[in-house]
Amino acid sequence: MKHIRLAFVLALLAGLITILPVLAQEETLTMSLSRDWGYGGFGGDIQGTFSFHVRGPANLARVEFYIDEMKIGEDTAAPFDLQFVTDNYALGTHELYALGHTEDGKILRSNSMNRTFVPAAEGGAAAIKILVPLFALIFGAMALSAVLPLLLGRKTVSLAAGTPRSYTFGGGICPKCRRPFAFSLFTPHLLAVKIARCPFCGRWGLMQPAPLHELRASEQAELESAQGQIPEASEEEKLKKALDDSKFQGL
Ligand SMILES: [Zn+2]
Repeated sequence: MKHIRLAFVLALLAGLITILPVLAQEETLTMSLSRDWGYGGFGGDIQGTFSFHVRGPANLARVEFYIDEMKIGEDTAAPFDLQFVTDNYALGTHELYALGHTEDGKILRSNSMNRTFVPAAEGGAAAIKILVPLFALIFGAMALSAVLPLLLGRKTVSLAAGTPRSYTFGGGICPKCRRPFAFSLFTPHLLAVKIARCPFCGRWGLMQPAPLHELRASEQAELESAQGQIPEASEEEKLKKALDDSKFQGL
């Protein structure tokens, strides 16, 4: 007896589970809103051209579209849509919904949505509100990168060619003057590249940290290029010699 009763209850439950969604589907009117042109911002603020879209049961014959208590139009064939322009209605918060009439005379009310109709200028202003801080950030970064070298100065250091440096925090080779220099602990880096200023020529740039043997080789290269400048010095000596020679010629 108990088993029969349980079976009956289960059968009833199973029946309900299959019937309920069908009933629900039959009886609901689902309204959605689309933005066709204009502004749909945060907090339900809208401005521009929007459309109601209503889905309902198969026997849905007619749909009426409402903004608050005012019927703004109706549609008598699927798809049940209606386009409207927010500027044609009072500014402020409105309740948007639809009423559906079925062939057998039932009236179904859709879900409702609250939207605040804002003036056209405000729609644009809200977009600017988002863009302005973004531009400020970009231009700020650009200005800072231009001003920072000026603030930190363009003072250069003179160091005899070939002087061995200590590269405790690594070092780089200046792409402009080819002289090696040590990074400081505070040298900012961008991924694997350092943002550094060459102390010899004052150039700012992204510099690849160089291995120690390359840094040492650059110190040597400094010496060689410095020695390469000796002919210029001997030019001066030649001139001196020529001057000295002229003294003898004058005698
Ligand atoms: Zn340099």
